[in-house]
Amino acid sequence: MEYRKFNQIKRLVVKIGSSSLTYATGKLNIEQMEKLVRQMVDLHNRGIKVLLVTSGAVGAGAGKIGLTKKPRTIPEKQAAAAVGQGMLLHMYEKFFAEYGVVVGQVLLTREDFSDRRRFLNARNTLQALLEFNIIPVVNENDTVAVDEIKLGDNDHLAAMVAGLVDAELLILLSDVGGLYDGDPRQPGADLLSEIYELNEEIESLAGGAGSKVGTGGMVTKIQAARIAMHSGLVTVIARASENDIIRRVSAGEPLGTAFWPSAKLVQKKKWIAYGSTVCGRLCVDDGAVRALQRGGKSLLPSGVTAVEGKFDVGNTVSVVNHDGREIARGIVNYCAADVEKIKGCKTGEIVGILGHKDYDEIIHCDNLALE
Ligand code: GLU
Repeated sequence: MEYRKFNQIKRLVVKIGSSSLTYATGKLNIEQMEKLVRQMVDLHNRGIKVLLVTSGAVGAGAGKIGLTKKPRTIPEKQAAAAVGQGMLLHMYEKFFAEYGVVVGQVLLTREDFSDRRRFLNARNTLQALLEFNIIPVVNENDTVAVDEIKLGDNDHLAAMVAGLVDAELLILLSDVGGLYDGDPRQPGADLLSEIYELNEEIESLAGGAGSKVGTGGMVTKIQAARIAMHSGLVTVIARASENDIIRRVSAGEPLGTAFWPSAKLVQKKKWIAYGSTVCGRLCVDDGAVRALQRGGKSLLPSGVTAVEGKFDVGNTVSVVNHDGREIARGIVNYCAADVEKIKGCKTGEIVGILGHKDYDEIIHCDNLALE
């Protein structure tokens, strides 16, 4: 995609953070919700498939229950989410209905992405909703998702959803206007407009979580942008309260911070996925499946459980889970006989087993295309 040229996009994911939906009192910011809904409907009416990932359940629920502080314990958060999610959906339903648009609630947890069957199921559901011209309103299933099965923050969830539905653009709306080269609350900090590579310097600019209501600060947004970059889509972080923000970002106005996937990487991944000949299979354990599907992770020997076929260094292989389902394809750094010897081992053991070590990874993440 050319510089901020989003006029061809067909699928857009908008994520709205809690701080943009609730006031400091914990009550919903109706005016802002209404404005954002209006802009999404307008894009929807132009034929763009819009998906909304919304936070605010815990925040709104806490306000309704009468908690004055952010709920701390898991049961408290879950109770707040149970109350707040209903309120949230009710409000969205009402606002979207004013423009004749139907919404569908989709609540997901981490397992819906890491378990292949559930992943495909979630994808089919979202696909069907979009085909019916329904705007999916997605949140984490907070009432049942305890820490071990939680994605934890909706920036992450939004990036996963965007990858799941093959969106081209992810807009993360927040109370901060993008990524700054200093503390945005202090004078002299400049907004970084376009990011092409996520290095340590960029990551260090994202401080800790800023606002009181959401779980995410810049850190989770950058992590989400990383996932999105690996799925080949653009992420824009922008300020929710800015006038007409969704429409203007989608029209290509240089607002907020855009994170660009590497065009070369996207092309190469397409080739790996569709163009190259598959010479063998690597069966991997569930931990490796989860790590690979989270994005940005390489396949290490420790995750490989079985090797099939005769492949050489530089060949493309299929990566399958324990049921034999393909989850990715990638270019291998070791031949089949070597992978057979080092499978299940730690990277530190490679040199002892093979007598040499050219790479830590069996497949580097840049050479891996997820299914
Ligand atoms: N799922 C949470 C909620 O709706 C929000 C998580 C987040 O702030 O990222 O309250």
